[in-house]
Amino acid sequence: MLLEGKKLLVTGVLMDSSIAFHVARLAQEQGAEVILTSFGRTFRITQSIAKRLPTTPEVIELDVSDQEHLDTLAERLREHTDHLDGVVHSIGFAPAGAFNFLEADWEDVATAVQVSAYSLKSLTVASLPLMGEGGSVVGLTLDATKAWPVYDWMGVAKAAFESTNRYLARDLGPKGIRSNLVSAGPIATTAARSIPMFEQFEKWGERSPLGWDLRDAEPAAKACVALLSDWFPATTGEIVHVDGGFHAMGF
Ligand code: NAD
Repeated sequence: MLLEGKKLLVTGVLMDSSIAFHVARLAQEQGAEVILTSFGRTFRITQSIAKRLPTTPEVIELDVSDQEHLDTLAERLREHTDHLDGVVHSIGFAPAGAFNFLEADWEDVATAVQVSAYSLKSLTVASLPLMGEGGSVVGLTLDATKAWPVYDWMGVAKAAFESTNRYLARDLGPKGIRSNLVSAGPIATTAARSIPMFEQFEKWGERSPLGWDLRDAEPAAKACVALLSDWFPATTGEIVHVDGGFHAMGF
């Protein structure tokens, strides 16, 4: 099995539509032990959704905008595991105001950047005491090299997120830890449905040589599992596209 004996921290399981739910499911099927995180009002929802996984994992509290949660993460993780082989960042949030590019105020933009981009650094640093040689950090992006009809400051946050991945690769490489992203096509999750006019992304399939199913998170999740495994030992700072081939096409 691809992840035999590995211990993973998986953030971002909200519903069973969450990309992270499918990462956790496939990771368990591939032999990994998984710990989930959730926070605030969604904590109980995650605990209940976690029961739908092959093995019900522990859920620990983590709001990535709460410094105390980050500062105590390693200590709280140690109650369940002595080390981590991988961390999955599957977190994204922007206030409604951030989806109006010209009108958005700094407060909304700052929240989007803190929760959706800076958190890749803060989650990784908070997990580092349990990680060593061979560790793998994997996050999820939506191609930030383009301006989309919708997405706005979340798109800018994703550009910062993609850059953060490269700097993490630079600083974690000497410790033998990799950092990579999966650039997924649109998937109808809770976060996606909060984007105004998300249905415009339905056109994605028409432009993708392999086609694209907005209701299928498994292709993106499979790529996360592959990057968490030992089968990408010399890959870091990378962005693997799992988008039906959309990014490579002109018309
Ligand atoms: P989702 O709504 O299922 O997951 C988003 C998660 O972020 C939720 O579990 C939520 O609790 C968590 N979160 C939000 N604020 C947080 C905070 N302050 N602290 C900790 N966790 C917080 O949606 P999803 O689509 O599965 O999103 C997962 C990741 O995939 C995000 O980074 C998203 O940008 C990315 N992504 C999504 C799509 C898509 O179309 N759905 C495409 C490409 C990339």
